[in-house]
Amino acid sequence: MGSEAAAAAVDLLRSQVPLQTDGELVLPSRGGVGLVLVDVVNGFCTVGAGNLAPVAPNKQIEKMVEEACRLAKLFCEKNWPIFAFLDTHYQDKPEPPYPPHCIIGSGEENFVPALEWLENEPNLTIKRKNCIDGYISSIEKNGSNFFADWVGKYQIETVLVLGICTDICVLDFASSTLAARNIGQVPPLQDVVIYSEGCATYDLPVEFAMNTKGALAHPQDLMHHMGLYIAKGRGAKVVDRVVLEP
Ligand SMILES: [Zn+2]
Repeated sequence: MGSEAAAAAVDLLRSQVPLQTDGELVLPSRGGVGLVLVDVVNGFCTVGAGNLAPVAPNKQIEKMVEEACRLAKLFCEKNWPIFAFLDTHYQDKPEPPYPPHCIIGSGEENFVPALEWLENEPNLTIKRKNCIDGYISSIEKNGSNFFADWVGKYQIETVLVLGICTDICVLDFASSTLAARNIGQVPPLQDVVIYSEGCATYDLPVEFAMNTKGALAHPQDLMHHMGLYIAKGRGAKVVDRVVLEP
């Protein structure tokens, strides 16, 4: 698909499944909002860093990393809680249908260079996750949930979610968290807010997928849109701006 055809396809999709966003999220100065970063790791974001990394610089991914840094800095300045999922796998435990990625020790499983500073901040909680859905990865052997415990510990009413991929790990995390919220498993959480500019997904154009055995087409703009749309359908709020209460 040429760029004109791709743009027309996005227009068609937007007309058939239009996404009405919830505008902007105003971060209250009293706190109560937790920032959740999903997989802002080399293996998904840094050019050439692995099987699932971008093969060339990618504007949507660069913007996501930029916004993740901006908001992480802001949350650190305020000493507000941040929770980061880092996709991390053992060599001998594949994650079908994906090729090996984010293997321990490869460096793919760590924060992108622009976020390395965050690792030592006292308001950060890290969860290395070994499956797509961060909520499920947080289930402990005793049945408790590491993520839900974090929400409770900091009395978080709203989680603001950024990361990659919009239609995979971000969507699954948001959906599971909302389902858990609905049955009272994540108190006092009320809202799951996804920041559209702070999310990105990967690009596998249809013409490439058709010539690659086993590949599933994954046009970036379309799938990003669908990820946000489906998340909204599950009850997430989708915002296109995040600002601080004046
Ligand atoms: Zn993974």
